[in-house]
Amino acid sequence: MFDAFDQEHIWHPYTSMTAPLPCYPVASASGAQIYLQDGTALIDGMSSWWCTIHGYSHPELNQAAIEQLNKMSHVMFGGLTHQPAIELAKILLEITTSELDKVFFADSGSVAVEVALKMAVQYWHAQGQPEKSNFVTTRSGYHGDTWNAMSVCDPVTGMHQIFGSSLPNRYFVPAPESRFNGEWQEQDIQPLEQLLAEKHRQIAALIIEPIVQGAGGMRFYHPEYLRQAKALCRQYDVLLILDEIATGFGRTGKLFAYEHADIIPDILCLGKALTGGYMTLSATLTTRQVAEIISRGEAGVFMHGPTFMANPLACAVAVKSIQLLLAHDWQANIQRIEQQLSTLYVLEGHPVVKDVRVLGAIGVVELHQAVNLAEFQAECVRRGVWIRPFGRLVYVMPPFIISTAELQILLEHMIDMIQHLELAA
Ligand code: PMP
Repeated sequence: MFDAFDQEHIWHPYTSMTAPLPCYPVASASGAQIYLQDGTALIDGMSSWWCTIHGYSHPELNQAAIEQLNKMSHVMFGGLTHQPAIELAKILLEITTSELDKVFFADSGSVAVEVALKMAVQYWHAQGQPEKSNFVTTRSGYHGDTWNAMSVCDPVTGMHQIFGSSLPNRYFVPAPESRFNGEWQEQDIQPLEQLLAEKHRQIAALIIEPIVQGAGGMRFYHPEYLRQAKALCRQYDVLLILDEIATGFGRTGKLFAYEHADIIPDILCLGKALTGGYMTLSATLTTRQVAEIISRGEAGVFMHGPTFMANPLACAVAVKSIQLLLAHDWQANIQRIEQQLSTLYVLEGHPVVKDVRVLGAIGVVELHQAVNLAEFQAECVRRGVWIRPFGRLVYVMPPFIISTAELQILLEHMIDMIQHLELAA
């Protein structure tokens, strides 16, 4: 079943080249189903890592891609512009908070984070404060795999600890402990307050994933943390960068997770579901004020310009994906999914289970011990579902178009498999 050439020659994410874990060959995918080459159909619980909100091979997204392909799939963005980028920027500015006014398109989430960090540094440099060039973030965060994005990931759970001293040194404060639906604990914000009080002269920005800390631990924290963090940023003259790459476009029950806290970022990073998971594209949005100050600085420009900036094919599909989302009562649909995901709470108190949490279209079961990934996935495939655990976290974030029946099957298998996990001695 596994492809020998693939195993021998092709890197997969975070995978050994000498003892690679199995990778199942996919022939096609449609709706909420992934079809393996041997004909096995899998109900998708992962949305290909937060992306495919409308499912796979959606006729309208396909059509948008085909129409754009027949015009041009790419053209350089230096000195040229095009309708897909203009339309996408318009929609993004419409659906995000009105203070955000400028859009920078790049090729991936990690690059959106690099762009955001560079914007913050240039912003302070342009105001004669080049010493404000470092960053503060919380532990358990994840912001991507490129160098500076890695530097603001949790040094341990962010998967980058090996790079240690070769990464720039950032300021870390503990992750918020107050849970999303729990009580706000005032002391949660104190470390950030203290750090900003001491170090704000060196800090360009706070970068944080709003409400949901994704790959760094799948933690859902209290909106009050964001509200107070925003107030502290203002008090200490530090920009606020929100990384909505995983949470954007409805996943948490709000179009953007920062809406849970009703705050305004200075810089916002979007990616993943931006194109409905069709291709890679990211957007970094900022305010008129940030953009104008950067443009008044020594360089006179923002110093970034990737080859595939604002790729028309990706922009055209992104426009259609956002239109599709907004054309439906997406919020009611997320509530439907959230309600169904709440069946995971039956696992609370099970000996292998440490915690269960559900928010919007995200369901997380945190175990006491890591699962055996290869075994777990083989069992998933045998049962016809696709779940990709990460360490001690078994979680699902299905496409929004998943049917109630499909989701029920997915959850029944997930619950049954967890109930049958054995505690290691
Ligand atoms: N930020 C967050 C919050 C993410 O979840 C991810 C991807 N897991 C990234 C940034 C990086 O995005 P990409 O993989 O597209 O570079």
